[in-house]
Amino acid sequence: MKPTDKAGMKYTNQRVEILAFLREHDGHPTVDEVYDGVRQKLTRISKATVYKNLKFLTEKGLLEEVNVKGVSRFEANFIPHHHLICRECGSMEDFNSEQLLDYSMKIAEEIEGFTIVSTSTNFYGVCKKCKESMESKESMESKESMESKESMESKESMESKESMESKESMESKESMESKELMESKESKKSEENT
Ligand SMILES: [Zn+2]
Ligand SMILES: [Zn+2]
Repeated sequence: MKPTDKAGMKYTNQRVEILAFLREHDGHPTVDEVYDGVRQKLTRISKATVYKNLKFLTEKGLLEEVNVKGVSRFEANFIPHHHLICRECGSMEDFNSEQLLDYSMKIAEEIEGFTIVSTSTNFYGVCKKCKESMESKESMESKESMESKESMESKESMESKESMESKESMESKESMESKELMESKESKKSEENT
């Protein structure tokens, strides 16, 4: 076997494994996810090699590359379909609608000077996971604001209690002073009398 054949075999094997991974996992994995997946079998493969092979397979038309939020994702599903893309986490899900495909192709017939062979629509929004985490975050925040309101109220009531107490003590002080004053006055009077 010539060395070039051996190298060729290695590349073929890598590509076969990468394609197999993408066909088994019918999502839209990133380079990192494909790397983690094929590393189970090809333990010595590098991430750069995975990336190169993904690009090669895409060029050969065996994979499709889609870019979501600046991240490359790959898929092996060539049956025309649409995508649900999350604006929060960048996740991507397949969405099948024959009706939408037919409708898009019908509209495309009216486009002049461009021959349409396929169509795909992207729907952007918030995925279920992100929506749930956003809702739980919101409910936590509202709980926190309620708690802080409670603590403020209790602080207020404590303050008003304090001010009442200080008022009482002031009043009692005043009354004591006035009593003393009256007493001293009286004693003065009695002194004068003697
Ligand atoms: Zn999301
Ligand atoms: Zn897809």
